[in-house]
Amino acid sequence: MPEAAPSLADLIDMQIRANGPMSIASYMGLCLTHPRHGYYKQADPLGTDGDFITAPEISQMFGELIGFFCVNLWQQMGEPRSFTLLELGPGRGTLMQDALRVAVRAEGFGDALHLQLYETSEQLKAQQAIRLSQYNPYWATEIDAVSDDPLIVVANEFFDALPVRQFVKSAAGWHERLVGLDDDKRCFGLSPTPIPESAMPEGVRGATPGDVYEVSLAATDVMQRLSKAIGRLGGAILAIDYGYARTRTGETLQAVRRHGFADPLEAPGEADLSAHVDFGALATVATGARLTVQPLATQGDFLRRLGIIERADTLSSANPGQAASIGAALGRLTGPDQMGELFKALCAASPGLAPPGFAP
Ligand code: SAH
Repeated sequence: MPEAAPSLADLIDMQIRANGPMSIASYMGLCLTHPRHGYYKQADPLGTDGDFITAPEISQMFGELIGFFCVNLWQQMGEPRSFTLLELGPGRGTLMQDALRVAVRAEGFGDALHLQLYETSEQLKAQQAIRLSQYNPYWATEIDAVSDDPLIVVANEFFDALPVRQFVKSAAGWHERLVGLDDDKRCFGLSPTPIPESAMPEGVRGATPGDVYEVSLAATDVMQRLSKAIGRLGGAILAIDYGYARTRTGETLQAVRRHGFADPLEAPGEADLSAHVDFGALATVATGARLTVQPLATQGDFLRRLGIIERADTLSSANPGQAASIGAALGRLTGPDQMGELFKALCAASPGLAPPGFAP
């Protein structure tokens, strides 16, 4: 009888036995995007039946305001007759569907638009194809494989899905946290080799022993490539996610399964793993590429500046029967105890542009 194919847990354990403990980033990368068993390679994780729900799935208002944001930037850029709109991790395609329904009302926008999507999940690509077919999207295989046109990039809850490494402070320096095996059970451990404090970014120097510093090289790499492209072609990137404004210590790696927290080391590939986004690190990369970075806005402030309250009123007047659910969605997206403050919006743009939604 043929042996059962190894599960992702088996593959990870085999790799640890053969090569020794692996970094958390390697572990996260395998769990999320392993070609056969990765979390994002399997079922649709979004929505009430999935593991988590995102802002565009809560209300059409979210995508619509981002559509307005894109039109406003395109107009400030002088209404180029051809431009790329790239979405990173478009999920079910809901955000872009809502955004473009609104945006193509601006004369010339639809004709100028070249829609690019960057997505790892075949399942979600299929949904994006259905929702966005009228805009003829192109699925980019490389993050920076864009044309020579100006470029507007949108990413909602994308950067949090990129792998992070963790380092733990000790009296001797910093030690990378690794995933190893103890009696055949997966566990966290520390690399014995200390990294000197001087090799760490300023924001975490002087930390107390036991403190954890997380860094996502994948996230800064994406930001670097796109910032360079925007620097060359003109345009902007908007990233919305849960995260913090400045590089600092704090452990945020989390596993979420069916709307609840889970143990990240259990059932690899079956839970969503994510970490809060270090917006400070992303801003540093963009500034280094000579883009202008807006002061980080909370999602609540960003959406209010774009007019979410007025939009909710208009929708409620047009659909009085749905006023209560529209009000509830408004609360979820902007309420300080809900998504309003935990989530932040970062925008880096070519100098001279004034992206809407940010403090003047
Ligand atoms: N933006 C959507 C979905 C957020 S979930 C929304 O707001 O609803 C994260 C998205 O990023 C999914 O579409 C997921 O498949 C995609 N993704 C995660 N890791 C990725 C990677 N390494 N490369 C490309 N896409 C990725």
